[in-house]
Amino acid sequence: MVARHDQTTDPVLLQSLLQARRGTAFFARKLNELPDAELDGGSLLPGWTRRHVVAHVGYNARAIARLIEWAATGVETPMYSSPEARNHEIEFGGTLSPIALRHLFDHSAVHLNVEWRDLPADAWHHKVKTAQGRTVPAEETVWMRTREVWLHAIDLDNGATFKDIPAPVLERLLGDITGAWHTRGTDAGLLVKVTGTDLVFGDTNAADPTVVTGPLPAVAQWAAGRGSHGVTATGPGAAGGVLTAPKWI
Ligand code: ZN
Repeated sequence: MVARHDQTTDPVLLQSLLQARRGTAFFARKLNELPDAELDGGSLLPGWTRRHVVAHVGYNARAIARLIEWAATGVETPMYSSPEARNHEIEFGGTLSPIALRHLFDHSAVHLNVEWRDLPADAWHHKVKTAQGRTVPAEETVWMRTREVWLHAIDLDNGATFKDIPAPVLERLLGDITGAWHTRGTDAGLLVKVTGTDLVFGDTNAADPTVVTGPLPAVAQWAAGRGSHGVTATGPGAAGGVLTAPKWI
């Protein structure tokens, strides 16, 4: 008898699963609001139509499900066989009929959810490898998926904004992005402050930093490279109050 509830009882993990499921439901809603003909329209991602975004989100769920199968069985199954295979899959997915594309999203999301639900509590700590080559516990896949569904719902470009994303998700996203900058050393002299909070990211030791400030959704949007509406930049690196965020991915 297969359980109909999560096997883990870890409250932090259950909360994370809730954020991922909410994000998936949000993406589904934005996708369902798009008539078939509008799937051909452009997304916020350069070179990608909405079709590519939907295909990518669907194949991402399948890829993450492979990691959960790995965690469950101990048999190594990578997310993608190669970066080329990943890109080829997205290109192919972009050519699917609207109904096939919608099924791809729906079925892959349900499949991933079943894999998560049925993963034994202790297997959540088993190590798997991400497409970027990072070794992480299976738990990390929940965040990986959360980030994808919330961000790409906005990329569908039919009304979702960063204000729709829950604050804890935005905070963690901002931590990821500024962490990536730090790893690459591209955050030198750059300080990011979230107004109305004590959240500060970036080069906190800079003597005369360029400071980017704004509300959490606006700062996250800017940092993710999706527009600078609602943020202000001051200091040596700010030209006329605008500043392009360093590359993240
Ligand atoms: Zn993505």
